[in-house]
Amino acid sequence: MSKDRNSIAKKRLSVTAYLILVIFAIAVLSVVFLLVNYRRSSDYSFTDDGVLDLRNWNDDSSPIILGKGWQFYPHQLLTPEDVRRDRRVQATTGEIEYNCYENVQITTEGWRDLGSSATLKQAGNGSKTEPMESFGFGTYCLDLVFSSTTDYVTINLPNIAQSARIWVNGKTIRHFGIVSTYEAAYVPEEISTDIQVEPSETGHVEIIINCANFSAPNGGILCSPCLASTSSIELIKYSTRMYLAVLIVLWIGFLIGGLYISQTFQGKSKFYFFMLFFLFEILYENFDPAVTLLPGSWNYLLRVTILIFMNYFSFLFYVSLYPRGASKLNDKIRYFESIFFSLISVLYILTYWCFPRFLYQRSSVFANFILILFTNLYCMSKVFYMVRRHEHGHYLYTLSVMVTSFLHFSVFIQTQYYIPITLHAFILIFFTLIYGSYFIMDYVKTFEKLSFHNKNLESAVDEKTKYIAKVNQDLLRNHEKLLENEEARKKMLSNVSHDLRTPITAIRGYVELMLNAKEPLPREQEVQYLKNIHTRSTQMEQLISDLVQLTRLESENDTLDLMPISVKEMVHDLYTLYHAECEGTKKQVLFEAPDDDDLLIDGDAKKLLRVFENIIVNAMKYTREDGIIRIICHRYGDPAMLGGNAVEVIVKDNGVGIPPNEVPYVFDRFYRAENSGINKTGSGLGLSIVKSIMDKHGGKIWAESEEGQGSEFHIVFRASEFNFDEEPEEEE
Ligand code: ADP
Repeated sequence: MSKDRNSIAKKRLSVTAYLILVIFAIAVLSVVFLLVNYRRSSDYSFTDDGVLDLRNWNDDSSPIILGKGWQFYPHQLLTPEDVRRDRRVQATTGEIEYNCYENVQITTEGWRDLGSSATLKQAGNGSKTEPMESFGFGTYCLDLVFSSTTDYVTINLPNIAQSARIWVNGKTIRHFGIVSTYEAAYVPEEISTDIQVEPSETGHVEIIINCANFSAPNGGILCSPCLASTSSIELIKYSTRMYLAVLIVLWIGFLIGGLYISQTFQGKSKFYFFMLFFLFEILYENFDPAVTLLPGSWNYLLRVTILIFMNYFSFLFYVSLYPRGASKLNDKIRYFESIFFSLISVLYILTYWCFPRFLYQRSSVFANFILILFTNLYCMSKVFYMVRRHEHGHYLYTLSVMVTSFLHFSVFIQTQYYIPITLHAFILIFFTLIYGSYFIMDYVKTFEKLSFHNKNLESAVDEKTKYIAKVNQDLLRNHEKLLENEEARKKMLSNVSHDLRTPITAIRGYVELMLNAKEPLPREQEVQYLKNIHTRSTQMEQLISDLVQLTRLESENDTLDLMPISVKEMVHDLYTLYHAECEGTKKQVLFEAPDDDDLLIDGDAKKLLRVFENIIVNAMKYTREDGIIRIICHRYGDPAMLGGNAVEVIVKDNGVGIPPNEVPYVFDRFYRAENSGINKTGSGLGLSIVKSIMDKHGGKIWAESEEGQGSEFHIVFRASEFNFDEEPEEEE
């Protein structure tokens, strides 16, 4: 399951990476395209002292375009004196004589030149009307009323000191003011202030002048004073559209990539807010007056609305950056901030849409600027504060701040500092790509961390599962053992009671026989009865002592009294005993042991004696009348047995043997093989006592037997490290 998710996420990642690569390629190509076009459009320039330099002007047939709606031929600008004086122009344009004003056709019929009679009202100054001598930086408006019979009027405005945007009856007219103080070379007001106007149906002519401080033409393409041939203008327009197309492609790329990525991580809101913010930035650039979509003030109104939305979404993006739930106070502040900024944004938008005139007031422009500046500064400080306190996404947040503020102020920067669109486009695309790549890297890191933890978790779960399975198995085994023990206990109890009852019943039988005899029993019979009673009680005593020994051996308190013991010696003593016992019978006991080796082991002498005796007695017991019992003691060289350093005692007989299926059980408690039937006494406890003693000594014991042929009992011990030959160290 988790494997599936991992592979899906990896696939997503590779799709996103490809997408980013494609977008990057498009962006690079577009920037190259923009750069080429930028070079081609620069077929005019200004000299250091501000003189219009037309030496590179190769397109005599097309007019120079001054912003929107204004065009002129270069020679119309120059007086004969200028041409005579500035030889450069003549030299580069192939000795062409410029006839000044030759092609200028100005129709004066029907025009009313207001001239200095026009009075202008500075916006924001209430109803006070002041004649304006010249325009400075700011927004001005004038409402003139004409009789309805007037077809058109020429309005001669006073000298406009700055570059300005002029709206007449809601239609925008781009105008650029003085480009040089060198009046003889370029006197713009002669052309620019003559505006042909058609009054509205009510006879109104509304003039709004918005003066910016575009006073230095520096070759910027669109927003800086625009001067280019028609063919160049076409290229510029194409470049601009290309640039906007790149932004849109980037946006779509971010959207697809982000949607892919956001499926695997939490906190999608920051992604959505960034996308909305970026979208409004693109729209804002699209609604630049140079790429006008809507007529007149609608265009401007829409643009300001977009600007406010852009500001609002950038705020939401910032807010979504700092972690939710970090502290209750933080969450409350976030809630308050969101409501406050939403209200302000709505208020701004409503104000401009209800009272569009406010748009052109200097105070409105100022208020807008303050709103944007405040939003950015406030949010930046919060994000930086957060960056210091939260380690995760440290650089991502910082980069977010940089990208957002650049996007936000990109248009300001571009227009205020005359950054050519090429450079502006390049910076913007560069920033967004860096941001996109970093965002992906951050995601990849987070994803790797997650899958690492996932793996760890999986292996931990595996380990625990294995552990639990093992514990479970142990428990089951213990349970089985307990059941077995319980079974053995029951069996032992019944064996013990049976083995005790049998001799008691016999004893009671003999005693009753003797007691109930009406006549005194013959002495011989009496002795026989008493002998039987003695045998039975000895049998009982043996059984009880075996039981006691077995119980003691099994208790934890029973310890071994270890000391170096010569196996050879101990077994030889027993051999001597049983050898003597066999005298006068057909049975034989033989003994073999190395001469030069005492076969030392570390053991408990008493208990070991019991082991050897039990095995030898069994051999004697389960053999024929003429049986041969061989006792062999030697060193056991097999490295597989107790590390190869062992001593072995083998007791062989050629007696009845043990049926093969019973061999494994002879060491069990109360187990007596079928062969034991032919023999008389025995409790079946002897070999289990032997086994317990051997286990305690860390030794091995096993039986090998062939039914009817005899048995072999092997007893192996670890040899002792003790050496009698070494002299003991003297104690001081
Ligand atoms: P028991 O008191 O019956 O001898 P043991 O525990 O000493 O009990 O022996 C268990 C059984 O193993 C015996 O009953 C016998 O059947 C079998 N057994 C032990 N030693 C020999 C042997 N040397 N030859 C054949 N059978 C043997």
